[in-house]
Amino acid sequence: MTVAVVLFTADLRLHDHPPLHAALRAADEVVPLFVRDPAVHAAGFDAPNRAAFLADCLADLDSSLRRRGGRLVVRSGPVAREVRAVAADCGATEVHMAAGVTGYAHRREERLRRALGADGVRLRVHDAVVTAVAPGAVAPTGSDHFAVFTPYFRRWSGQSLRGPLPAPRAVRVPDAVRGEEPPSRAGMPGLSPQLAEGGETAGRARFARWARADLSRYEEHHDDLAGDATSRLSPYLHFGALSPVELIHRARERGGAGAEAFERQLCWRDFHHQVLAARPDASVRDYRTRHDRWRGAEEAAGDIAAWREGRTGYPLVDAGLRQLRTEGWMHNRARLVVASFLTKTLYVDWRIGARHFLDLLVDGDIVNNQLNWQWVAGTGTDSRPHRVLNPVRQGRRYDPDGTYVRRWVPELAGVGAETVHEPWRLPAERRAVLGYPEPLVGLADGLARFRQARERG
Ligand code: FAD
Repeated sequence: MTVAVVLFTADLRLHDHPPLHAALRAADEVVPLFVRDPAVHAAGFDAPNRAAFLADCLADLDSSLRRRGGRLVVRSGPVAREVRAVAADCGATEVHMAAGVTGYAHRREERLRRALGADGVRLRVHDAVVTAVAPGAVAPTGSDHFAVFTPYFRRWSGQSLRGPLPAPRAVRVPDAVRGEEPPSRAGMPGLSPQLAEGGETAGRARFARWARADLSRYEEHHDDLAGDATSRLSPYLHFGALSPVELIHRARERGGAGAEAFERQLCWRDFHHQVLAARPDASVRDYRTRHDRWRGAEEAAGDIAAWREGRTGYPLVDAGLRQLRTEGWMHNRARLVVASFLTKTLYVDWRIGARHFLDLLVDGDIVNNQLNWQWVAGTGTDSRPHRVLNPVRQGRRYDPDGTYVRRWVPELAGVGAETVHEPWRLPAERRAVLGYPEPLVGLADGLARFRQARERG
């Protein structure tokens, strides 16, 4: 009887799962394993919203495996130690897992290779599980990664993708392997009140619904803040409850401008992965430094607190930040505006904003979060690094009648479209009744400070 272990990481699904597929072909019995590694906790990556969503993903994976005669084995402890122990307990000769791109993922792989190698167990790492195209699979001549999106997109689009793999019909798990109960979100403290439900089943249902109703309108409406017409699949992609390869195939089957635009967004995800795979330190250091002397946590303490609470006095900024607190998710257009406001108008270090996002976002992702923050801050891959988004103009353009602002900023519920993005234009008596803060800083003053810093830098 041959046995293989499949270590699930950021790929918590049964459909289109190359490591599981390969293990089931190679061995008679397979141990589907998830390890709760204290290193993830120590790095602060298990913030409450993501911990809850992860718990949903694990519970769903476990019940999908049980329907196929198997189960998910969950263990806690240093990942290399746990995988080695499980492999030894069941006499496994191979461990399969997906390739990762972060510094943590690289260290994990090295440790596993060493620990398993000592026991003669082979580690097989599969590409294009977490991303559609593996980082490094396409690269410009003379470099290990693309630093500009458009040429990357051209090359990426020309890659042939594997067909999506079906979910297995049956999984036989050896009896000898012991695990713990998968965690549950019930009773977890500090969750956003409107947090989405996690898991492959919920993710597949969401995609099916959204593809029927909204995919064809995606190109036209993806920036419409009130319309909320984007897929909201980001947390499912973050935890790998959905496969990017499968989503691309499903979108192509439907075809049209909406499907193409959606695929382009999935390419952004791969683009950031290949940047971080080549430059893991970009999660904490400027990808392209401008030698900014950002305002830090102490110097800008009051501004940072007001920004975090969604009390900057700029309605669109505040709406986005309050949506984040309530849902653990924020519309992409709002993410761009609140990040530009923090890094450019308030001239605060992008890492402070990125940390706040990681504390709350259910899709909070060291790759996409840090590199999008750098993109907005102008230290990343944006070819126009000095652009500053004006929250009033952005509001008029992407939330023209103020519906999104009124949804998240109840103080402005009775304010009409003409002034909802500029409440400071209302008469003083009306403003006093609203109880909405005055602007933290004038936009012209913020812009002047940013420009001055640029000239010094
Ligand atoms: P859709 O518009 O439906 O797009 C489909 C998928 O494409 C998304 O689910 C996502 O996986 C991917 N995608 C879309 N835009 C981007 C992008 N700019 N970069 C990378 N992938 C993208 N996304 C995260 O997944 N995790 C993060 O931590 C994260 N932090 C961000 C921080 C900032 C400052 C900004 C500006 C963007 C950030 N994004 C992040 C990217 C983007 O905002 C979200 O992926 C998107 O809003 C998720 O909503 P959706 O699933 O409805 O997206």
